[in-house]
Amino acid sequence: MNLSYPITYIKGISVQRATLLYTELGIKTCNDLLNFFPFRYIDKTAFYAIKDLQPNTSEVQIVGKITRVKSVAQKRGSRLVATFQDATGSMELVWFKGQKWIKDSLKINEPYVVYGKLNHYNGNFSIPHPELELVTEYKKKLQTKMQPVYPSTEKLTNSGVSNKMMRTYIQNLLQQFFEVIEESLSQEIINDFKLMGKREALLNAHFPKSQENLAKAQNRLKFEELFFIQLQLLRKKLINKTKIKGFVFENVGAVFNQFYSEKLPFELTNAQKRVLKEIRKDVASNAHMNRLLQGDVGSGKTIVALLTMLLAIDNGFQATIMAPTEILATQHYHAISELLVDMEVNVDLLTGSVRTKKRREIHQNLEDGTLHILIGTHALLEDKVKFKNLGVAIIDEQHRFGVAQRAKLWSKNSLPPHILVMTATPIPRTLAMSVYGDLDVSVIDELPPGRKEVKTVHRFDSNRLSVFKFMRDEIDKGRQVYIVYPLIQESEAMDYKDLMDGYESIARDFPSPKYQISIVHGQMKPADKEHEMQRFVKGETQIMVATTVIEVGVNVPNASVMIIESAERFGLSQLHQLRGRVGRGADQSYCILLSSYKLSEEGKTRLKTMVETTDGFKIAEVDLKLRGPGNLMGTQQSGVLNLKIADVVKDSKILVAARNTAIAVLQEDSDLSKPENLNIKKTYLEVSKNSKIWSNIS
Ligand code: ADP
Ligand code: MG
Repeated sequence: MNLSYPITYIKGISVQRATLLYTELGIKTCNDLLNFFPFRYIDKTAFYAIKDLQPNTSEVQIVGKITRVKSVAQKRGSRLVATFQDATGSMELVWFKGQKWIKDSLKINEPYVVYGKLNHYNGNFSIPHPELELVTEYKKKLQTKMQPVYPSTEKLTNSGVSNKMMRTYIQNLLQQFFEVIEESLSQEIINDFKLMGKREALLNAHFPKSQENLAKAQNRLKFEELFFIQLQLLRKKLINKTKIKGFVFENVGAVFNQFYSEKLPFELTNAQKRVLKEIRKDVASNAHMNRLLQGDVGSGKTIVALLTMLLAIDNGFQATIMAPTEILATQHYHAISELLVDMEVNVDLLTGSVRTKKRREIHQNLEDGTLHILIGTHALLEDKVKFKNLGVAIIDEQHRFGVAQRAKLWSKNSLPPHILVMTATPIPRTLAMSVYGDLDVSVIDELPPGRKEVKTVHRFDSNRLSVFKFMRDEIDKGRQVYIVYPLIQESEAMDYKDLMDGYESIARDFPSPKYQISIVHGQMKPADKEHEMQRFVKGETQIMVATTVIEVGVNVPNASVMIIESAERFGLSQLHQLRGRVGRGADQSYCILLSSYKLSEEGKTRLKTMVETTDGFKIAEVDLKLRGPGNLMGTQQSGVLNLKIADVVKDSKILVAARNTAIAVLQEDSDLSKPENLNIKKTYLEVSKNSKIWSNIS
């Protein structure tokens, strides 16, 4: 007998019930049920007298007798009403569903314990669909101050699987299987953290004897859950490092050195230098690099990417950058070509709109090795694109790419190329530990010197005229301005109309020939988009009206004003990305968030946060609190966030402890073969068998 047995082994669970529990809650095995935790606890030792009930009392438990049952006709169908009395007064119990079955089972004039939500209507108290138990039955059971309440679904409730029933199932499960519950942690860990034993913890998580015991039990189970996730992630990382060989870039050679001493237009920041060192250490070793580079917008990730690519070239390899949009790929291409001018490095650009003839040429040069760096979009993933020897693949703004696409880049080679994933969406540290726990993480946490913080204000739509005046003043100083409109897929047509209306009103207030306006939106052809972008980049237009297509990566240092229309409709990370488009030059830059007066609480918090800080990590923390981890960029595909008891946000302290413990265990015993780690190994094998972690990450 063990916990992988199906729940039909538990007393009282029929095949039918088991099926229902599986389809509704995903519970299949005894272990699943054991790890199905209450979401709150209620006091079942206290009783109310009917005369003491108050209209604002929420849940009550009362002892009394049913004296009368009747069916009462109502608008649609009928309801079953029982008169319920104790020594102090009388009230009603009411059922709308399952009336016949209930009517037959009710015993008149026998003492019952009744429990449920109290309703108060017209001076009368009632409990709809109460839990009922004969006092004789009630006395047989263990009653505590902390009775578990389990999550449920409408279908379960309607099919008669009440909370009382769930409690009974789990009580039976604990009775039948208690002895086969095995400790999963080592004695050392238990001692070090003074953790409750596994059996005791499970018992107390379901049926706590006290608040204190409950806290201890939950702490132990959260630790365990996070520990085994971290153990899997770290083992995966370890295996990547030791088993998967990577290309070795031993030399820092002519190309890198020439660029560094002659072409680098500025001194690297300390953060850039540190990250470059981390990357060099990876690629010079025998291992395969799998690194995430986090750095706020404008922190200078491109130059780090370029230097990494030059390392590859110095060692006879090719390199590639994949960007999520054509605009961004093109921009990388221009920036990098410019930096590499007069150097013996061949760079080319491959996107969906490259003509067949040019495309063939690229394929050819790529295969014979004359092309060193290829920059592009998803078009890089096509089967026809074959490298001679791809040494490093750099993926910009990773959240736009799926897991499968990353894997596809891998398969273009004999050995996997080194992978550097760059993202400007900061992820709070604790979340990164879970979502990217198997990657190495580098952070550029410093902006290039001389940057002025973007001044951010929130204005209501009614202030538009003064905003226009401000725009005129800035344009007179030679600056350029972005005006961004929201784009929400479901109502593209409406958004398009908003954009066009906005464009027309701006064109009226900023008439040509004095003012020139670019417009860029998602429904334009790539070539037209590019044309409009270039007009703005070259300074031929002063105003760029756009939807969020410009969100990622556009670099126009002379643009110093970012106006965001209907800012309340944007998410925080999007607002932060958009603001990052300005403040790239020497001038003071501004971000103006326009909104209507009607703002939700969350909308207010978002705008307030933007006004208060420009720190991407702080903004990410707020975003995490507002939206929860599952909604943040890059986390959706991650299987590690389906936690049973722990919460990556609230339990960050336990998470850090669990991760450090997992690191320490693996340092001493990388394949968990030591006898003192036997418990850990058993559980590890068990959880990784069922885990989505291996297939879902990287
Ligand atoms: P992001 O991290 O957002 O991709 P970029 O790589 O586009 O940032 O860099 C933003 C701007 O900062 C670019 O114009 C780049 O030339 C400049 N830059 C990058 N690093 C430095 C540095 N160390 N000193 C001065 N300017 C820098
Ligand atoms: Mg960038």
